[in-house]
Amino acid sequence: MSIDRIVVVGAGTMGNGIAHVAALAGRKVTLVDVDPAALERALASVERNLGRQIEKGVIEEEAKPKALSLIETSTELETEAARADIVIEAAPEKPELKYSIFQAIDGAAPSGAILATNTSSISITEIAARTSRPEQVIGMHFMNPVPVMELVEVIRGLATSDETTASVLALAEQMGKTPVEVNDYPGFVSNRVLLPMINEAVFALMEGVAEAEAIDTVMKLGMNHPMGPLTLADLIGLDTCLSILEVLHRELGDDRYRPCPLLRKYVAAGWLGRKTGRGFYTYE
Ligand code: NAD
Repeated sequence: MSIDRIVVVGAGTMGNGIAHVAALAGRKVTLVDVDPAALERALASVERNLGRQIEKGVIEEEAKPKALSLIETSTELETEAARADIVIEAAPEKPELKYSIFQAIDGAAPSGAILATNTSSISITEIAARTSRPEQVIGMHFMNPVPVMELVEVIRGLATSDETTASVLALAEQMGKTPVEVNDYPGFVSNRVLLPMINEAVFALMEGVAEAEAIDTVMKLGMNHPMGPLTLADLIGLDTCLSILEVLHRELGDDRYRPCPLLRKYVAAGWLGRKTGRGFYTYE
Protein backbone atom coordinates (compact mmCIF):
# COMPACT_ATOMS: atom_id res chain seq x y z
CA MET A 1 0.00 0.00 0.00
CA SER A 2 1.16 3.58 -0.51
CA ILE A 3 1.95 5.48 2.66
CA ASP A 4 1.51 9.22 2.19
CA ARG A 5 0.28 10.47 5.54
CA ILE A 6 2.10 9.57 8.73
CA VAL A 7 0.92 10.37 12.24
CA VAL A 8 3.62 10.26 14.92
CA VAL A 9 2.29 9.97 18.48
CA GLY A 10 4.61 11.49 21.10
CA ALA A 11 6.82 14.42 20.11
CA GLY A 12 9.75 13.71 22.44
CA THR A 13 13.30 12.61 21.65
CA MET A 14 12.25 9.89 19.21
CA GLY A 15 9.03 11.39 17.86
CA ASN A 16 10.67 14.54 16.54
CA GLY A 17 13.39 12.47 14.88
CA ILE A 18 10.85 10.18 13.21
CA ALA A 19 8.89 13.21 11.94
CA HIS A 20 12.17 14.66 10.64
CA VAL A 21 13.14 11.62 8.54
CA ALA A 22 9.55 11.04 7.37
CA ALA A 23 9.25 14.64 6.12
CA LEU A 24 12.64 14.43 4.40
CA ALA A 25 11.24 11.36 2.63
CA GLY A 26 8.43 13.59 1.30
CA ARG A 27 5.66 12.29 3.55
CA LYS A 28 2.99 14.47 5.18
CA VAL A 29 3.55 14.15 8.91
CA THR A 30 1.41 15.12 11.87
CA LEU A 31 3.13 15.10 15.24
CA VAL A 32 0.65 14.50 18.05
CA ASP A 33 1.38 15.09 21.74
CA VAL A 34 -0.69 15.69 24.88
CA ASP A 35 1.69 18.54 25.76
CA PRO A 36 1.61 21.59 23.42
CA ALA A 37 5.03 22.68 24.76
CA ALA A 38 6.49 19.33 23.63
CA LEU A 39 5.16 20.02 20.13
CA GLU A 40 6.88 23.40 20.06
CA ARG A 41 10.15 21.90 21.29
CA ALA A 42 9.87 19.14 18.69
CA LEU A 43 9.49 21.58 15.80
CA ALA A 44 12.45 23.59 17.09
CA SER A 45 14.53 20.39 17.28
CA VAL A 46 13.61 19.35 13.76
CA GLU A 47 14.54 22.81 12.47
CA ARG A 48 17.89 22.78 14.33
CA ASN A 49 18.73 19.24 13.23
CA LEU A 50 17.88 19.95 9.58
CA GLY A 51 20.24 22.94 9.84
CA ARG A 52 22.99 20.65 11.16
CA GLN A 53 22.47 18.28 8.26
CA ILE A 54 22.86 21.19 5.80
CA GLU A 55 26.10 22.28 7.55
CA LYS A 56 27.45 18.73 7.27
CA GLY A 57 26.43 18.49 3.61
CA VAL A 58 24.04 15.60 4.28
CA ILE A 59 21.08 17.44 2.71
CA GLU A 60 20.66 20.40 0.34
CA GLU A 61 19.59 23.79 1.68
CA GLU A 62 16.22 23.68 -0.09
CA ALA A 63 15.32 20.38 1.61
CA LYS A 64 14.83 22.19 4.94
CA PRO A 65 11.84 24.45 4.11
CA LYS A 66 10.32 21.63 2.10
CA ALA A 67 10.53 19.18 5.02
CA LEU A 68 9.29 21.75 7.54
CA SER A 69 6.28 22.54 5.33
CA LEU A 70 5.27 18.86 5.49
CA ILE A 71 5.10 18.74 9.31
CA GLU A 72 1.98 19.72 11.23
CA THR A 73 1.33 19.42 14.95
CA SER A 74 -1.81 18.56 16.90
CA THR A 75 -3.09 17.51 20.32
CA GLU A 76 -6.07 15.64 18.81
CA LEU A 77 -5.02 12.00 18.56
CA GLU A 78 -8.25 10.49 17.22
CA THR A 79 -8.92 13.23 14.66
CA GLU A 80 -5.41 12.81 13.25
CA ALA A 81 -5.43 9.00 13.36
CA ALA A 82 -8.63 9.08 11.28
CA ARG A 83 -6.66 10.31 8.25
CA ALA A 84 -3.45 8.32 8.71
CA ASP A 85 -1.98 5.67 6.41
CA ILE A 86 0.33 4.70 9.26
CA VAL A 87 0.50 5.75 12.90
CA ILE A 88 3.93 5.48 14.51
CA GLU A 89 3.64 5.62 18.28
CA ALA A 90 6.60 7.05 20.25
CA ALA A 91 5.00 7.81 23.61
CA PRO A 92 6.75 6.95 26.92
CA GLU A 93 7.73 3.33 27.55
CA LYS A 94 4.75 2.46 29.79
CA PRO A 95 2.70 -0.60 28.79
CA GLU A 96 -0.69 0.66 30.02
CA LEU A 97 -0.18 4.00 28.25
CA LYS A 98 0.72 2.30 24.98
CA TYR A 99 -2.24 -0.11 25.25
CA SER A 100 -4.65 2.80 25.70
CA ILE A 101 -3.11 4.76 22.81
CA PHE A 102 -3.41 1.70 20.55
CA GLN A 103 -7.04 1.18 21.52
CA ALA A 104 -7.77 4.82 20.66
CA ILE A 105 -5.96 4.78 17.30
CA ASP A 106 -7.42 1.38 16.40
CA GLY A 107 -10.89 2.83 16.90
CA ALA A 108 -10.15 5.94 14.85
CA ALA A 109 -7.76 4.96 12.03
CA PRO A 110 -8.98 3.80 8.60
CA SER A 111 -9.31 0.02 8.31
CA GLY A 112 -6.26 -0.27 6.04
CA ALA A 113 -3.95 1.80 8.23
CA ILE A 114 -0.86 0.26 9.82
CA LEU A 115 -0.28 0.81 13.53
CA ALA A 116 3.41 0.82 14.43
CA THR A 117 5.20 1.30 17.73
CA ASN A 118 8.71 2.51 18.46
CA THR A 119 8.76 0.61 21.77
CA SER A 120 12.17 -0.53 23.02
CA SER A 121 10.92 -3.52 24.95
CA ILE A 122 7.14 -3.93 25.18
CA SER A 123 5.72 -6.98 23.40
CA ILE A 124 4.36 -6.17 19.93
CA THR A 125 2.12 -9.24 20.19
CA GLU A 126 0.57 -7.95 23.43
CA ILE A 127 -0.04 -4.49 21.99
CA ALA A 128 -1.51 -6.03 18.82
CA ALA A 129 -3.84 -8.31 20.79
CA ARG A 130 -5.55 -5.24 22.22
CA THR A 131 -6.56 -4.04 18.76
CA SER A 132 -9.04 -5.34 16.18
CA ARG A 133 -6.25 -5.58 13.55
CA PRO A 134 -3.28 -7.52 15.02
CA GLU A 135 -2.07 -8.37 11.50
CA GLN A 136 -1.52 -4.63 10.87
CA VAL A 137 0.42 -3.97 14.09
CA ILE A 138 4.22 -3.96 13.96
CA GLY A 139 7.32 -2.67 15.74
CA MET A 140 9.30 0.05 14.01
CA HIS A 141 12.23 0.56 16.36
CA PHE A 142 14.27 3.60 15.35
CA MET A 143 17.59 4.35 17.05
CA ASN A 144 18.57 7.57 18.79
CA PRO A 145 19.38 10.08 17.28
CA VAL A 146 16.94 9.13 14.52
CA PRO A 147 18.25 11.42 11.74
CA VAL A 148 21.77 10.01 12.20
CA MET A 149 21.35 6.31 12.96
CA GLU A 150 20.94 3.97 10.03
CA LEU A 151 19.11 1.05 11.63
CA VAL A 152 15.39 0.46 11.98
CA GLU A 153 14.63 -2.82 13.74
CA VAL A 154 11.31 -4.03 12.28
CA ILE A 155 9.60 -6.36 14.73
CA ARG A 156 6.90 -8.78 13.66
CA GLY A 157 4.34 -9.67 16.29
CA LEU A 158 2.93 -13.19 16.23
CA ALA A 159 0.04 -12.10 13.97
CA THR A 160 1.79 -9.42 11.86
CA SER A 161 1.11 -10.06 8.17
CA ASP A 162 3.67 -10.30 5.37
CA GLU A 163 1.93 -7.36 3.67
CA THR A 164 2.28 -5.10 6.72
CA THR A 165 5.92 -6.13 7.11
CA ALA A 166 6.69 -5.45 3.44
CA SER A 167 5.07 -1.97 3.61
CA VAL A 168 7.05 -1.03 6.71
CA LEU A 169 10.35 -2.37 5.35
CA ALA A 170 9.79 -0.28 2.20
CA LEU A 171 8.87 2.83 4.19
CA ALA A 172 11.99 2.52 6.37
CA GLU A 173 14.14 2.30 3.23
CA GLN A 174 12.44 5.35 1.74
CA MET A 175 13.32 7.18 4.97
CA GLY A 176 16.96 6.43 4.17
CA LYS A 177 17.26 3.68 6.78
CA THR A 178 18.38 0.07 6.69
CA PRO A 179 15.59 -2.05 8.17
CA VAL A 180 16.31 -5.42 9.76
CA GLU A 181 13.43 -7.82 10.35
CA VAL A 182 13.30 -9.61 13.70
CA ASN A 183 10.73 -11.53 15.73
CA ASP A 184 8.94 -10.46 18.87
CA TYR A 185 10.88 -11.65 21.93
CA PRO A 186 11.75 -9.47 24.95
CA GLY A 187 14.23 -6.75 23.99
CA PHE A 188 14.12 -7.89 20.34
CA VAL A 189 17.76 -8.15 19.13
CA SER A 190 19.09 -4.67 19.84
CA ASN A 191 18.27 -4.38 23.53
CA ARG A 192 18.60 -8.10 24.26
CA VAL A 193 22.27 -7.82 23.34
CA LEU A 194 23.01 -4.22 24.33
CA LEU A 195 21.45 -3.92 27.78
CA PRO A 196 23.22 -6.88 29.41
CA MET A 197 26.51 -5.28 28.27
CA ILE A 198 25.56 -1.90 29.76
CA ASN A 199 24.38 -3.62 32.96
CA GLU A 200 27.69 -5.50 33.25
CA ALA A 201 29.57 -2.21 32.84
CA VAL A 202 27.55 -0.77 35.74
CA PHE A 203 28.36 -3.86 37.87
CA ALA A 204 32.05 -3.36 37.01
CA LEU A 205 31.78 0.26 38.16
CA MET A 206 29.91 -0.71 41.35
CA GLU A 207 32.46 -3.40 42.23
CA GLY A 208 35.33 -1.00 41.70
CA VAL A 209 36.81 -2.95 38.81
CA ALA A 210 37.60 0.45 37.24
CA GLU A 211 36.44 4.07 37.02
CA ALA A 212 33.71 4.98 34.50
CA GLU A 213 36.19 6.56 32.06
CA ALA A 214 38.40 3.46 32.19
CA ILE A 215 35.50 1.08 31.52
CA ASP A 216 34.39 3.17 28.55
CA THR A 217 37.94 3.48 27.20
CA VAL A 218 38.47 -0.30 27.34
CA MET A 219 35.35 -0.86 25.28
CA LYS A 220 36.12 1.95 22.82
CA LEU A 221 39.76 1.22 22.14
CA GLY A 222 39.71 -2.50 22.80
CA MET A 223 36.44 -3.49 21.17
CA ASN A 224 36.17 -0.69 18.60
CA HIS A 225 32.88 0.60 20.02
CA PRO A 226 32.30 4.23 18.96
CA MET A 227 31.13 5.07 22.47
CA GLY A 228 31.66 3.34 25.82
CA PRO A 229 28.70 1.55 27.48
CA LEU A 230 28.34 4.05 30.35
CA THR A 231 28.39 7.04 27.98
CA LEU A 232 25.80 5.25 25.86
CA ALA A 233 23.65 4.54 28.94
CA ASP A 234 23.70 8.26 29.79
CA LEU A 235 22.60 9.02 26.23
CA ILE A 236 19.76 6.48 26.27
CA GLY A 237 18.61 7.57 29.75
CA LEU A 238 19.25 5.49 32.87
CA ASP A 239 15.51 5.19 33.59
CA THR A 240 14.98 3.76 30.10
CA CYS A 241 17.89 1.33 30.60
CA LEU A 242 16.42 0.18 33.92
CA SER A 243 12.94 -0.35 32.52
CA ILE A 244 14.29 -2.40 29.59
CA LEU A 245 16.36 -4.56 31.97
CA GLU A 246 13.28 -5.08 34.13
CA VAL A 247 11.37 -6.33 31.08
CA LEU A 248 14.22 -8.71 30.13
CA HIS A 249 14.51 -9.97 33.74
CA ARG A 250 10.78 -10.47 34.19
CA GLU A 251 9.90 -11.86 30.76
CA LEU A 252 12.91 -14.15 30.29
CA GLY A 253 12.99 -15.13 33.97
CA ASP A 254 16.79 -15.36 34.09
CA ASP A 255 18.90 -13.66 36.77
CA ARG A 256 21.57 -12.77 34.26
CA TYR A 257 19.30 -9.81 33.37
CA ARG A 258 19.04 -8.62 37.02
CA PRO A 259 19.43 -4.81 36.97
CA CYS A 260 22.56 -3.68 38.81
CA PRO A 261 21.71 -2.07 42.20
CA LEU A 262 23.90 0.92 41.30
CA LEU A 263 21.73 1.57 38.23
CA ARG A 264 18.62 1.48 40.46
CA LYS A 265 20.28 3.88 42.89
CA TYR A 266 21.11 6.42 40.15
CA VAL A 267 17.55 6.28 38.82
CA ALA A 268 16.15 6.70 42.35
CA ALA A 269 18.37 9.78 42.76
CA GLY A 270 17.03 11.26 39.53
CA TRP A 271 20.47 10.94 37.90
CA LEU A 272 19.09 9.84 34.55
CA GLY A 273 22.00 10.76 32.26
CA ARG A 274 22.29 13.56 29.73
CA LYS A 275 18.66 14.62 29.99
CA THR A 276 19.04 15.57 33.67
CA GLY A 277 22.64 16.78 33.38
CA ARG A 278 23.99 13.94 35.51
CA GLY A 279 24.35 10.19 35.14
CA PHE A 280 27.65 8.29 35.11
CA TYR A 281 29.09 11.59 33.88
CA THR A 282 28.04 15.22 34.41
CA TYR A 283 26.89 17.44 31.54
CA GLU A 284 26.61 21.19 31.10
P1 NAD B 1 10.18 11.13 25.53
O1 NAD B 1 9.84 11.10 26.97
O2 NAD B 1 11.31 11.98 25.06
O3 NAD B 1 8.88 11.58 24.67
C1 NAD B 1 7.60 11.04 24.88
C2 NAD B 1 6.58 12.08 24.48
O4 NAD B 1 5.27 11.48 24.53
C3 NAD B 1 6.52 13.32 25.39
O5 NAD B 1 6.62 14.49 24.61
C4 NAD B 1 5.14 13.21 26.06
O6 NAD B 1 4.54 14.48 26.30
C5 NAD B 1 4.36 12.43 25.02
N1 NAD B 1 3.17 11.75 25.52
C6 NAD B 1 2.93 11.27 26.76
N2 NAD B 1 1.70 10.72 26.81
C7 NAD B 1 1.16 10.85 25.57
C8 NAD B 1 -0.09 10.48 25.00
N3 NAD B 1 -1.02 9.85 25.70
N4 NAD B 1 -0.31 10.80 23.71
C9 NAD B 1 0.63 11.47 22.99
N5 NAD B 1 1.83 11.83 23.47
C10 NAD B 1 2.09 11.51 24.76
O7 NAD B 1 10.40 9.59 25.12
P2 NAD B 1 11.36 9.01 23.96
O8 NAD B 1 12.73 8.86 24.51
O9 NAD B 1 11.12 9.77 22.71
O10 NAD B 1 10.78 7.52 23.83
C11 NAD B 1 9.59 7.25 23.13
C12 NAD B 1 9.52 5.77 22.80
O11 NAD B 1 10.64 5.42 21.98
C13 NAD B 1 9.58 4.84 24.00
O12 NAD B 1 8.76 3.72 23.75
C14 NAD B 1 11.04 4.43 24.06
O13 NAD B 1 11.23 3.18 24.68
C15 NAD B 1 11.36 4.36 22.58
N6 NAD B 1 12.78 4.50 22.23
C16 NAD B 1 13.55 5.44 22.85
C17 NAD B 1 14.89 5.56 22.50
C18 NAD B 1 15.77 6.60 23.16
O14 NAD B 1 17.01 6.50 23.05
N7 NAD B 1 15.22 7.63 23.80
C19 NAD B 1 15.43 4.75 21.49
C20 NAD B 1 14.62 3.82 20.85
C21 NAD B 1 13.29 3.71 21.23
